[in-house]
Amino acid sequence: LVNMQNRRVLVTGAGSGIGAAVARQLARLGARVACLDRDGAAVTALAETLQADAIAIAADVSDGAVVARALAEADEKLGGIDGVVNSAGIVSVKPVTELSLDAWRAVIDVNLTGTFIVSQAAIPYLRRATNPAIVNISSAQALSPIAGTSAYSASKGGVLSLTRALAAELGPQIRVNSICPGLIDTPMNESLKTKADDGPPVPLDRYALRRWGDPDEVAATIVFLLSSAASYMTGASLAVDGGRTYH
Ligand code: NAD
Repeated sequence: LVNMQNRRVLVTGAGSGIGAAVARQLARLGARVACLDRDGAAVTALAETLQADAIAIAADVSDGAVVARALAEADEKLGGIDGVVNSAGIVSVKPVTELSLDAWRAVIDVNLTGTFIVSQAAIPYLRRATNPAIVNISSAQALSPIAGTSAYSASKGGVLSLTRALAAELGPQIRVNSICPGLIDTPMNESLKTKADDGPPVPLDRYALRRWGDPDEVAATIVFLLSSAASYMTGASLAVDGGRTYH
């Protein structure tokens, strides 16, 4: 059902975690992948392990001019763009009383504005494709935030609403969906894991499945939303969170 053969997909944040898992799954399914990250070395290393049709692009998603050049490069080298995955993101965990305006702006800039910049820049390319799709990565934090995540949760709430607004505006040409991952075992959560050893444990009892999620379990849902198997889905938000948001 999920056929990605010869689909051309740009993945941001592909240098690590969920984005890297998406790039690997897409390549395995025969897609051509543009792996974009501000960590150029990470995407270069990843692209080398994928098939010949994968390319690496070093770019910061919060820089409009840089992103415009990156999209043009992906279009030229892949021969078009059928799908975009906005996985680039950063986290900040601080009580709101200690959160600086600079730290707030940095998180909003990458997570929300970066998703806007890449999606907007991709529209002309996607409009030329068949069954084009954008998948944005929101978070369980958008639906049910924990303390200390005001900037991150607000940015992810914004991604959820931006996804629905884009779906309304870009349909029937481009499908736009989002996913809300729970606690996923990626470098983003390294400090949480370290803390779990010598500090208060991660509250796994808030997750019905009582375990961390694997990046591949998130990537599978993203690949599904990109594929024609999801051709009647737009504006949707899928929780991939081990039961965190209902539990
Ligand atoms: P990660 O830290 O492993 O990977 C994020 C990647 O984004 C890194 O390679 C980083 O270099 C890149 N990046 C950061 N800022 C960038 C920028 N300005 N321009 C280009 N690239 C940039 O994190 P992850 O866990 O794979 O997270 C991927 C997405 O999933 C993020 O949007 C994150 O908020 C979201 N998410 C993660 C979890 C989780 O538990 N790990 C849960 C919910 C949502």
